[in-house]
Amino acid sequence: MSANKDRSPSHFIKRIIDTDNESGKWNGRVHTRFPPEPNGYLHIGHAKSICLNFGLAEEYGGKCNLRFDDTNPLKEEEEYVRSIIEDVQWLGFDWQDRLLFASDYFQQLYDFAIDLVKKGDAFVCDLSPEAIRNQRGTLKDPGTESPFRDRSIQDNMDLFERMKAGEFSDGERTLRAKIDMAHPNLNMRDPVMYRILHATHHRTKDEWCIYPMYDWAHGLEDSIEGITHSICTLEFEDHRPLYDWYLDALDTYHPQQIEFARLNLNFTVVSKRKLKRLVDERVVDGWDDPRMPTISGLRRRGYTPLSVRKFSESVGVTKRDTVVDVAKLENVLRNDLNKNAPRVMGVLDPLKVVIINYPEDKVEYVDAVNNPEDRSEGTRKIAFTRELFIERADYMDDPPKKFFRLGPGREVRLKYAYFVTCYNVVKSETGDITELHCTYDPKTKGGAAHDGRRVKGTLHWVSATENVSAKVNLYDRLFINDNPEEGGDFMNNINPNSLEIVESAILERSLSEPVHGCTYQFERLGYFIPDKDHSIPGRPVFNRAVSLRDSWAKQVKKVHK
Ligand code: ATP
Ligand code: MG
Repeated sequence: MSANKDRSPSHFIKRIIDTDNESGKWNGRVHTRFPPEPNGYLHIGHAKSICLNFGLAEEYGGKCNLRFDDTNPLKEEEEYVRSIIEDVQWLGFDWQDRLLFASDYFQQLYDFAIDLVKKGDAFVCDLSPEAIRNQRGTLKDPGTESPFRDRSIQDNMDLFERMKAGEFSDGERTLRAKIDMAHPNLNMRDPVMYRILHATHHRTKDEWCIYPMYDWAHGLEDSIEGITHSICTLEFEDHRPLYDWYLDALDTYHPQQIEFARLNLNFTVVSKRKLKRLVDERVVDGWDDPRMPTISGLRRRGYTPLSVRKFSESVGVTKRDTVVDVAKLENVLRNDLNKNAPRVMGVLDPLKVVIINYPEDKVEYVDAVNNPEDRSEGTRKIAFTRELFIERADYMDDPPKKFFRLGPGREVRLKYAYFVTCYNVVKSETGDITELHCTYDPKTKGGAAHDGRRVKGTLHWVSATENVSAKVNLYDRLFINDNPEEGGDFMNNINPNSLEIVESAILERSLSEPVHGCTYQFERLGYFIPDKDHSIPGRPVFNRAVSLRDSWAKQVKKVHK
C-alpha cells in the first residue's frame, strides 16, 4: 500500500516495510516515531532521523509520533523541549495530536516492573552503581551474580515499593532484571531497570524519586504507542536482544526495531554532548550560533527547510557508517537558493568610485532583475549616483591578463547601469587607494552598448549616497580538520577564523528592512540572511549562509601542501 506517488529513493527500510505490507504483518499499518531526549538542541543527524521517520509515515499513509524520551531529570530541560518542537515544525512535519512524553508512562512502566518482580524476573539490588559496574565482567569473562539476586518475590515487592516511596537515598538500591550474568551480550547481564534519584523532573516535578533506565523504558514506550517500525541508529543493535527480552517477559505488543547508520559529517561534530561543550565553554554564541550544525543554527545561518530535507534524503539510509562531506550540505543549499533567493547588491569591502562626467545631484533609478532563475519575480529600482562603491578587490593597479575587472584605462560594466572606464586613481600619502575616478558612457544605459561594444567584466556596486550600512557576519567552518577529533580532543581543532565580522558593509537601500527569514543572494558574493536577533530596521545584520562556490575545497588543498 503506497499512499504517495512521489516516492523518494528506495532503501532497505522501505523494502522491509514493503515486505511487511505484502505479508500483512501489521495489517498495512506504518507507525513510526521520532524519540529525542530533551537534553540538548537537535542537530543535522537528528534531522536525518526526523525526515526518515516522518517521511516514511507520509509516504505509506501512516503515522509518526513526536515522543520525548524524558527519563533522566538530571539532564533534561523545558528549553530543550521547546526548541525540539520548533525545529520539527520548521522542517515541515506534523505529529497531529501525537506530541507524547515518556514521563506520561511512568506509572505504566512502574506497573510493568511490578509484573516482572512478581514473575521473579526482577530483583532489588543493594550494590552500589560502582559495584554493579565492577561485577559486570568483560567480553571474555562472565560477570558475578549479585548477592541479592535470590531475594524472595515478597522482599523484592516490599523493597521496590519503598524505593518508590522515597525511603532510600540516591544510589542506595536499584531494581535489576534477572537475566544471565554470563550472557555473551553485556547488556543482558542483569541490567538496571530503575535507579533512585531525588531530582525534580521538568514535567512530573517531585512525583517520582525512582526513574526508569533508558533501556528499560525505550522499547516499552514504543510498545505502549503501538509503533510498528521502531527505527534507531546502529549503536542500539546490541540492545535489541534486551528490548526483546523485556517485551517477551511481559508478553506485550512487540514493535520491530530496525537499525540504520548515523549521519556523520566531516568538519563537524554531531553529538549533543560535544555541542553542549561548545556552548558551555563559549566557543560559540549559543546553541543556535550559525556555525553550529544544530537545526536552529542552520536556520539562523540561512538554510531552508527544503534544503535540509533534500540533504537528508540525498545521503541515503544504510547499515554502514560513513562520513559525508559537509560540502554536500552546502551544495544542496546553494542549489535551493540559486533557484529561490532574491538577488540584491551589496559591497563588503567598499572602494569609492566617482563618475566624473555624471551630474552631482542626480539620482537615477535603474531596473535590476530580482531573480534571473525566475523571471516572474520581476524587477526593482536601484539608485545610481555620481558616487558609488565597488568591491576593493575589483580594482588592480597592474592587473594580470585574466583579471576582467577594473584597472587603469579599463572599461567594465556596472551591472544594470552603465559601462565605466577607470580614468584616475587617487591615493593617500601612504599609497593606499582612496578612490577611483571613472567616466561613464551615457549610451550604455542598462548595461548594454549601443555599438555592440563588449566588456569582459561586470561588477556589482552600490550608490555611495542612497544605501544602508550593515554589519555582516562571515561564517566559516568551525573546525580546521576534516576530522575534528584528530589528536584526541575536538576543542583543540577549532578554526580561529570561523567568524569574520564586517562592521560596515554597504548594501542597496531596499535592504534597510530585509524580509525576516529570507535568504538573499548578494550578487557575486554569496547568500546572506538577516540575523533573527540582531537585525533592526535601518541597521540590518546579515549572516553569510554560503559563498557562491565551494571555495574551501581549494583552500584545504593549499593548506595541506
Ligand atoms: P547525541 O549522540 O547527539 O546525543 P542521541 O542519539 O543521544 O544523539 P537522541 O535524542 O537520543 O540523541 O536521538 C533521537 C533520535 O535521533 C534517535 O532515534 C537517534 O537514533 C537519532 N539520531 C541521533 N543522532 C543521529 C545521527 N547522527 N544520525 C541519524 N540519526 C540520529
Ligand atoms: Mg540518546
